[in-house]
Amino acid sequence: AKQQGRSQYQFYSPEINAQLQERLVLENELRGAVERNEILVYYQPLIDLHTRQVVALEALVRWQHPTHGLVSPAKFIPIAEANGLIVPIGEWVLRTACAQNRAWQLAGISPIRISVNLSARQFEQPNLVEVVRQILEETGLEPSYLELEVTESFLMSDIQRSVQILQQLRELGICLALDDFGTGYSSLNYLKRLPINMLKIDRSFVQDVTSNPDSAAVTDAIIALAKSLRLNITAEGVETQDQLDYLQIRGCDEGQGFYFSRPVPVDTITQMLKESSRQ
Ligand code: C2E
Ligand code: CA
Ligand code: CA
Ligand code: CA
Repeated sequence: AKQQGRSQYQFYSPEINAQLQERLVLENELRGAVERNEILVYYQPLIDLHTRQVVALEALVRWQHPTHGLVSPAKFIPIAEANGLIVPIGEWVLRTACAQNRAWQLAGISPIRISVNLSARQFEQPNLVEVVRQILEETGLEPSYLELEVTESFLMSDIQRSVQILQQLRELGICLALDDFGTGYSSLNYLKRLPINMLKIDRSFVQDVTSNPDSAAVTDAIIALAKSLRLNITAEGVETQDQLDYLQIRGCDEGQGFYFSRPVPVDTITQMLKESSRQ
C-alpha cells in the first residue's frame, strides 16, 4: 500500500495496521526473550574450497517464540535494531558462540573459526572493543578463532571512527569480514583503508552467477579485487554444484550455503564436527 497521510492509516490500510500491530506485539515479547531462554544460536559451516574441510561456522540467531515457533532474524533483527535490544541480544550471541567454540576445542574437535554478525547499534557502542576483549577472556577462546562480520553500510557513516574501531579489534587478534559485499555503496578508496581480512560476496550475485552474465562479471570483479588487496574471499548462498564449480575455478577461497548445509542447531553441528574430526 502507498504511504498516505498518517491519520488515514487506520481507516484505509487495515493491512499496514495489522503489520504495525504484529510488530508492536513482537517488540513487547522480544523484551526479556534472552532471560526466558528463547534466543538460540544456529550454526552454518563455511567450507574451504581447496580442501573441502569445514574451516568456520557462522553463528545465526533464532528466536524460539512460545506460540509462533522459530522466528527468523529477518523479522526480529530490524525491530531489535530500532529499539536497541540488538545490543544485549548481540552480546549474548557473541558470548554463546565463543563459549561454544571453546567447548568444541576442549572436546578435541579440530579448531575452526566462529563468525558472528555485528549490528550497527553494537558498532556504535563506545565499549564494543572492551566487551569483545572481555568475552574472549571470559570464555578462554583464542582470538584468532573469532571472526566478526560487519557491513559496508554502517562503516561508511563515520569512516574515520570505523577504521579506528576495526583497528582496535584487529589488535585483539580477531578476524574481520566485510559481509554482503557488493550491495553497499562503499568507495573502493575506503575499502583499502579498512583493516579487514575477508570479503563475503553477497548471495544475490552467487544466486545467478551461472545464468546472469552481469552477476558473473560482478563476482569475477570482487574476487579479483579481493586478491589484489590480499583479502580472503567467501561466497555466501552457494546452492548448486554449478555455482560451486564456477566459484572454485575463479579462485574463491571459501563457500557457504545450502549446497553444503543449512544453518542447524548446536547438537546437529556438534555431531557433524565430531564425524569430520574422526575422518
Ligand atoms: P547474513 O549475515 O547475510 O547471513 C546469511 C543468511 O543467508 C542467513 O539467513 C542464512 O541462513 C542464509 N543463507 C545461507 N546460505 C544460504 C543459501 O544457500 N540459500 C539461501 N536462500 N539462504 C542462505 P538468516 O539466518 O535468516 O539470517 C538473516 C540475516 O539476519 C543475516 O544475514 C544477518 O544479517 C542477520 N543476523 C542473523 N544472526 C544475527 C546476529 O546474531 N546478529 C545480527 N546483528 N544479525 C544477525
Ligand atoms: Ca553474515
Ligand atoms: Ca551475508
Ligand atoms: Ca545478507
